[in-house]
Amino acid sequence: MSHERAKVDFELDAGAKTFSSGLLPELIAALRRSRPGDLLAVISADPAVGDGLEAWCRFTRNTLIDTATEAGRTRWLIRCGEAPTDADADRPLGSRLWLYTNFDCNLRCDYCCVRSSPKAPRRALGLERVQRIAKEAAELGIGEIFVTGGEPFMLPDIGGILLACAAVAPTTVLTNGMLVVGRRLETLCSLPRGRVGLQISLDSPTPELHDRHRGKGSWARALRGIENARAAGFRVRLAATVSSEAEAEEFRRFLDEQQIAEEDRVIRRIALRGFATEGISLARADLLPEITITAEGVYWHPVGAEDNDLLITRDIFPLAAAFAAVHHAFARETEHQRRLARIFNCA
Ligand code: SF4
Repeated sequence: MSHERAKVDFELDAGAKTFSSGLLPELIAALRRSRPGDLLAVISADPAVGDGLEAWCRFTRNTLIDTATEAGRTRWLIRCGEAPTDADADRPLGSRLWLYTNFDCNLRCDYCCVRSSPKAPRRALGLERVQRIAKEAAELGIGEIFVTGGEPFMLPDIGGILLACAAVAPTTVLTNGMLVVGRRLETLCSLPRGRVGLQISLDSPTPELHDRHRGKGSWARALRGIENARAAGFRVRLAATVSSEAEAEEFRRFLDEQQIAEEDRVIRRIALRGFATEGISLARADLLPEITITAEGVYWHPVGAEDNDLLITRDIFPLAAAFAAVHHAFARETEHQRRLARIFNCA
């Protein structure tokens, strides 16, 4: 092994910890203590930790520079990069607003973080409430709105909802793309291109993987939705949910081939929430808050928008008070927890 232990700045013995049982906060804490160029060694007897580390390095822009196994224990050496988190970490709290317009969906993806499906109750936010949220959000200087679900295009009033949001801030609607046809496409076409964009889920360059998680035929229909939205002149961001670094890399190559701009790509790992039985375990301390509103209340982050541990308040209005409650909850986190906070990008 070329990297001597004496040169390592931090050494982290993972013991029995893995990415789903406490390793992530320790890594983030080590990273926060480090400076660019520092070397961090992680040691574990569990070779599976390596997969997670590889992905973690990729997502946090650190570099895995060496791996060595000795007496049944592996030692991974990481060079800490320039930016422990990305520029999103500097985004002011409250500049981004997420709206869960509904929870029913035409798909039932096996990793859906909010348990959406055709059988899920709609739990609609409703046009009237969205209009009031938009009005009050304007007064709070919101910079960006994300509309998600469930599948927002299941709603008959999705046009009005997007229009209300777009009047206040640039708005992105997250969709599985399957309904971007027919009359829903016509509705979309009535919206201002410069203010409304789409983020369409596509998990893999070919149907197999996407359809395995999302249902047979869903890949082809998503692709048609992407083409329809683009042909209609809308900005389309592609979002893949992946379970390994290998899948992420494959999708990255596909995006390169398709010449998709960096700002129109989202690749994220499956979060261990909702229907998911495996994935990255994310607690409140692991997430920087992004204010998220559902019919049930205000949540810390869109990745757990129906989980009690991320619920901030049941009272949406006045919106200023809801925002203050999120700020207050964030301030209440201990200094230590704040150091552990990390971005988990949903958009
Ligand atoms: S992941 Fe998206 S498309 Fe899949 S069930 Fe959940 S809301 Fe629907």
